[in-house]
Amino acid sequence: MALITVHQEGLYCEQGGFHIDPWRPVDCALITHAHSDHARSGSHHYLATHRSEGILRRRLGNDINLQGVEYGQKIKLGNTWVSFHPAGHVLGSAQIRVEYRDEVWVVSGDYKRNDDPTCDAFEVVPCDTFITEATFGLPIYKWQTGKQTCQQIYDWWQGDRDRPSLLFCYAFGKAQRILGELTQLTEQPVYVHGAVHVLTEIYRQAGIAMVETIPASELPRSHSFNGALILAPPSAYRSTWMRRFPQPQTGFASGWMAVRGARRRRGYERGFVLSDHADWQGLVDTVLQTQAKTVYVTHGQTEVLSRYLSEVHHINALPLNTLFEGEGDI
Ligand SMILES: [Zn+2]
Ligand SMILES: [Zn+2]
Repeated sequence: MALITVHQEGLYCEQGGFHIDPWRPVDCALITHAHSDHARSGSHHYLATHRSEGILRRRLGNDINLQGVEYGQKIKLGNTWVSFHPAGHVLGSAQIRVEYRDEVWVVSGDYKRNDDPTCDAFEVVPCDTFITEATFGLPIYKWQTGKQTCQQIYDWWQGDRDRPSLLFCYAFGKAQRILGELTQLTEQPVYVHGAVHVLTEIYRQAGIAMVETIPASELPRSHSFNGALILAPPSAYRSTWMRRFPQPQTGFASGWMAVRGARRRRGYERGFVLSDHADWQGLVDTVLQTQAKTVYVTHGQTEVLSRYLSEVHHINALPLNTLFEGEGDI
């Protein structure tokens, strides 16, 4: 029996009377994490982890009807038991486990298996049916550790002290992960764009350790940023905001930087491969570790991953059409 199905509004659990990450307003929405393709406004009632509450309220409005839960806490919804488990993707991100009679389904949301000092590490949750993402579901995607990539970012920054170093990255999750990794390498402050600043403050309120940050806008226009590292969202690239940093060296941190030509096409001088999604091996290992007999694949490379799981591992794996998007910083 299908415990979770794709409806017009999104993933739906009839036995529990709720949706997961619905793309249209519904009565009861369980939210895996606060990225915009998973958390949308307009629903009557929201359920999410306490850890994601600050960012959800910031993005969907302070007055949303939101019930916060702890990781692992079991809640009865309709005829089901529901719990949230760490997904290792961004602060507060969760996989959602749904239990009905003797059947267990897990919806992964977005997840990664690499270390990240700014969020709880992914937990393997055994299940009968696993709905996995596949944003980077091709064997060419193989990540080094965040620590290694952030060392490269640090060396790039320190390698040119005569110019500002402008690093573009997704403002929620990626920026804070870099700031968290940098605590191992430096005590110098990092300057941030306003969009990065608001989210970083929410991470700080949640007790996440990161290097000191200063909003670039707080400095006088005459201030020289030579030798400084500045983090900004990709939308600020080539915007008027960039004018206050004359002749910068520019870089971009994203999983997409692993694709040949992607950096040059966008015009960045340096690409740093850093993703908050699992790489190919991470996806395959995770599916096997859950011991799921049936796997539905969403996001990105759904065909390739489901075919591989069926042919090589003899798992009943199928693509599932959803409106979730890949890494939002392309
Ligand atoms: Zn996400
Ligand atoms: Zn996603």
